[in-house]
Amino acid sequence: IESFAGKRIALFGLGGSGLATAQALLEGGADLVAFDDNPESVAKADAAGIATGNLHEIDWSRLDGFVLSPGVPLTHPKPHWSVDLAARAGVPVIGDVEIFGRERRMKAPESPFVAITGTNGKSTTTALIAHCLAQSARNTQLGGNIGVPVLTLADPSPQNHYVVECSSYQIDLAPTLQPSVGLLLNLTPDHLDRHGTMEHYAAVKERLVAGADHAVVGDDDEWCRAIGNRLEGAGRRVVRISGRGPVENGAFYEDGAVLRRMEGYPEARFDLGAIGSLRGRHNGQNAAAAVAVLTLCGLIERDIANGLKSFPGLAHRMEEVGRIGNALFINDSKATNADAAGTALASFERIYWIAGGLPKEGGIAGLSAFFPRIVKAYLIGEAAPQFAATLGESVPFEISATLPNAVASAARDASSDAMPSAVLLSPACASFDQYRNFEVRGDAFREAVETLRGQGNEAG
Ligand code: ADP
Repeated sequence: IESFAGKRIALFGLGGSGLATAQALLEGGADLVAFDDNPESVAKADAAGIATGNLHEIDWSRLDGFVLSPGVPLTHPKPHWSVDLAARAGVPVIGDVEIFGRERRMKAPESPFVAITGTNGKSTTTALIAHCLAQSARNTQLGGNIGVPVLTLADPSPQNHYVVECSSYQIDLAPTLQPSVGLLLNLTPDHLDRHGTMEHYAAVKERLVAGADHAVVGDDDEWCRAIGNRLEGAGRRVVRISGRGPVENGAFYEDGAVLRRMEGYPEARFDLGAIGSLRGRHNGQNAAAAVAVLTLCGLIERDIANGLKSFPGLAHRMEEVGRIGNALFINDSKATNADAAGTALASFERIYWIAGGLPKEGGIAGLSAFFPRIVKAYLIGEAAPQFAATLGESVPFEISATLPNAVASAARDASSDAMPSAVLLSPACASFDQYRNFEVRGDAFREAVETLRGQGNEAG
């Protein structure tokens, strides 16, 4: 990072992306002091040769910038103490995506830079776009909120395509974000604990598309539609995407395929029917978004089609982990709330459903429209009694308590079912009562299924 050479920078938050940011700034010759509330993180930074110091004790008036980790509260429920100190001294507060953006503007402003945000589907869509670009032999750098800090990506150069997932916190910390293509997938109330109001949350997300050369905006919820209309009102050309049906200028999902009708490009149809990793209407929205973005990146129809077809999908999101007889086993451990579980339940007709964990507010009452698809539910973790009460008389269930028990019972029931079915782990709960995170929970599901298959339950 050279755009901060010689600048005096303080940094708070020495997790994965904080460490990467500190290292990049130091290598670029910034005069940096870093800090964290957690002594272990500070020790780790010290060991990595990063100068640390107590930010309560430094002279804030001499700083050129303050770098904050996206995990630390900027505004809500109240600003972190370091943000208060920065504000009092008039020091701009920024994050790693902002630093990346400035570096790219300085070194390779013509390099394609796709920035992706939304409430749901960010990681899937980011991975899908990056996969299609890489399959078309573009040099592709994938990072951001998806788990690879942007400042660990290859230095900006005109040959590189950057595909970056942005959380609203990262956008909040990127005041001059100007991607070449900005994608806003959808907006529903989520993370309001961190943003206060829906208005503020939407305004943050809006900045990502407002600052982009090309704006691609979802058309399936009123918040996104209003943002698209506002941009058009200001004279911008907006590409719309939908998982529900036709849009005027853009790409949309209908009857198992994505249709592209974009000004300046030939009409095209991309069949998703045989692509297991893009199952379900919600993935129709994600695929439509990818088609629009890839078109703007200059990919031709054949390359887009081939990329979609070969997309392996992401682990723990509607991931097929195996088949025993007529039953398909699906790992959707990432579905940590009822909304996400609803999209999974909507994707199958006949379901043996494994759910539960650490419950969230509202439980699963909102999912009753999908109950007729559930042959039986297998309830685990702390949520089991509460979910059992909601399912009541309308859905057969058992309290399995643990995930391995649930998999064994569900496999037994599904394998004596003559009809094709799905054994679906889509918990509608956080994992922390029984697992370290949703990834470990998903891995446990996969292992349980593999053990059963190894025991000779496999048929065909
Ligand atoms: P994010 O990165 O935004 O959290 P992911 O791509 O990791 O999203 O998907 C997480 C879960 O959200 C999926 O398992 C699925 O249940 C649901 N989901 C994915 N895409 C969408 C979408 N476009 N609209 C609504 N829900 C979605």
